[in-house]
Amino acid sequence: MEYKNPETIAIRTQSERTQHQEHSVPVYLTSSFVFDDAEDMRASFAEEKQRNIYSRYTNPNCAELVEKMCLLEGAEAGTTFATGMSAIFSTFAALLNSGDHVLSARSIFGNTHTLFTKYFPKWNISHTYFNVKSLEDLEGLIRPETKILYVESPTNPATDIVDLEMLATLSRKHNLIFIVDNCFATPYLQQPIKFGAAIVIHSATKLLDGQGRVMGGIAVGKADLIDTVYRFARITGPALSPFNAWTLSKSLETLAVRVEKHCENALQLAIRLEKHPKIQQVRYPFLPSHPQYELAQKQMRLGGNIVTIEVIGGLESGRAFLDAIEMCSLTANLGDTRTIVSHPASTTHGKLSTEERQQVGIMDGLIRVSVGLEHIEDIVQDIEKALVSI
Ligand SMILES: *Cc1c(COP(=O)(O)O)cnc(C)c1O
Repeated sequence: MEYKNPETIAIRTQSERTQHQEHSVPVYLTSSFVFDDAEDMRASFAEEKQRNIYSRYTNPNCAELVEKMCLLEGAEAGTTFATGMSAIFSTFAALLNSGDHVLSARSIFGNTHTLFTKYFPKWNISHTYFNVKSLEDLEGLIRPETKILYVESPTNPATDIVDLEMLATLSRKHNLIFIVDNCFATPYLQQPIKFGAAIVIHSATKLLDGQGRVMGGIAVGKADLIDTVYRFARITGPALSPFNAWTLSKSLETLAVRVEKHCENALQLAIRLEKHPKIQQVRYPFLPSHPQYELAQKQMRLGGNIVTIEVIGGLESGRAFLDAIEMCSLTANLGDTRTIVSHPASTTHGKLSTEERQQVGIMDGLIRVSVGLEHIEDIVQDIEKALVSI
């Protein structure tokens, strides 16, 4: 049977049962798979048949995760990785040649930025950053050697919304591969392929697992591009462990209910904090005061789980706020059941100057809240109490 609704797809897409008729899929913790005879082995290596050979190539748990994610994202094909970063690195490394150029939003995950700035030059791959707030100038930045257009939306931590349909149209016109890191939205909230993206990448470590347990990465999209990425990955070896793939496939069964509740809590928190005297600004894509509220409504089902607040008093207040927090976690992850608070200006973006930070929308008093699934009153209380002490 084919299902249309994401809740049902995520629950009912399963590997075939074994002879044991298990209800829940087993973990295939095996490094390799056996052949019937010499002819079976020859034909398998010649790729005349599709079957599992070795878990660096494929594994039933990884295949199940890929199938689910393809259905959820509306993609033709996909492949899994040990982490989000290995998905990002492998995708770029497989699709780019020496001399190619990447056009990327400046507001991207910190380690992806380091990949572009520190490592790509070693292979003669250049990049240009654009500000997601001035997309009108984007076409002028495209060069003959530009091959990939890359964005995240909503951006981290400013929650800017990038117009995916507009960028997909531009990519088609200039023959660029449009890649979206959809980690902050998940396919439940946003399906970039529907707007014309060629590849969607995820750090499955975040909301897809959603319980702070395992790391993982996935890339889905056009079959010919994914095949190129898969062939690079199976040689270079950033394979997802079968156990982590099993965990992530189980996590997806609850993606819809989790993300609904994350977004409900996040919107509540944003509304409750918007008028707080110690807060200069609250940004949340589904707050009517968000500058791109309408675009967010167009391309997302709900606003996501990240709320950013700017406390008065800058750097010092930001640090004092973290010290006064009791329940919410101070940790590097996001998209967990547990609410997480972080202060980018003194941590992830601490090496930049105040001016450089402002260019990417990170004010000195900005706090990123990854809203979890605790009772909303407990989250609000913890944050309001911490605000008293700044
Ligand atoms: C965390 C993150 C990554 C990297 O994923 P890992 O699983 O930590 O390697 C990439 N992109 C975004 C937007 C992220 O938040």
